[in-house]
Amino acid sequence: MFDALANGFRQAKNRLAGLTELNEQNIDTALREVRLSLLEADVELGVVKAFLARVKEKALGEVVKLKTKSADGGTMKVTAGDQFTKICHDELVAFMTAEGPALTFADPHEKRPTGIMMVGLQGSGKTTTTAKLARYLQKEEKKKPLLVAADMQRPAAVEQLQVLGKSIGIPVFNIPGETPLNICIKAREEARAKGHDVIIYDTAGRLAIDEKLMDELGAIKESIQPENILLVVDSMIGQDAVKVSKGFHDKLELTGVVLTKLDGDARGGAALSVKEVTGAPVRFIGVGEGTDKFEEFRAEGMASRVLG
Ligand code: GDP
Repeated sequence: MFDALANGFRQAKNRLAGLTELNEQNIDTALREVRLSLLEADVELGVVKAFLARVKEKALGEVVKLKTKSADGGTMKVTAGDQFTKICHDELVAFMTAEGPALTFADPHEKRPTGIMMVGLQGSGKTTTTAKLARYLQKEEKKKPLLVAADMQRPAAVEQLQVLGKSIGIPVFNIPGETPLNICIKAREEARAKGHDVIIYDTAGRLAIDEKLMDELGAIKESIQPENILLVVDSMIGQDAVKVSKGFHDKLELTGVVLTKLDGDARGGAALSVKEVTGAPVRFIGVGEGTDKFEEFRAEGMASRVLG
């Protein structure tokens, strides 16, 4: 995962090997390596520029001192490379850190189930992620979710969710022949009647963002007023993941993004660009096909993966 990014940062560090002081010249040399790796990793150009500018600003003028570690009698050198890496690490974290919790839950006093609306393009992994999230909430948050199959666009989506729901022991609500909006509305009655505290709506996808899709999603949002709207995006599509995120965020005001297929993403550009470009933070990641291959997104962990 993220080989391109990791290689570039390693090269940058190598450029500074043996140097004890950062100066404008060696910072620029290291930044050139980082720039190349960011571009190769398909990081959005504006994000590349902003990142390099912030790292440069922090790195400039910082003098690397030799530190002595006396405990074991040996000496530990803090090299220019280490210092540069630390600055990059901190900036990577700043670029990816999300504000607020990954999910917002309804006030328990209101006795209203929490709504989570899942949106995304076809093939992004939306239906799979819907099931993964339900399993995660059941295990990690001790919730009792109801899944709603409201993707009537892709013929196999309803059955796919039913199969996934069965495999994780979570019920799936659907009314054959009904409109997605009515299914979502009826699902709330079902959730109340059966004591579910979270409803996860798997809405329709399309091959590309179009007005019809956005109108349908907008009407569902308006009607069910979900606490959370999560966009599912395939990280393998690189900068397109950023464009898609922006398109959905502009129309629906997402509360977050789920980046899928990170297990196969050698580049990692989307993870770094999405929040900076769209304002919608990455909340969760998909790291495999199984329903347990799902994690909360952690900027620190991601930065460490890239920088070793
Ligand atoms: P949808 O059209 O957006 O509902 O997409 P699906 O949920 O049907 O997923 C499309 C394909 O991507 C399926 O083969 C999934 O198993 C696969 N998939 C989804 N998430 C991940 C992931 O995190 N990693 C991998 N490797 N495959 C995934």
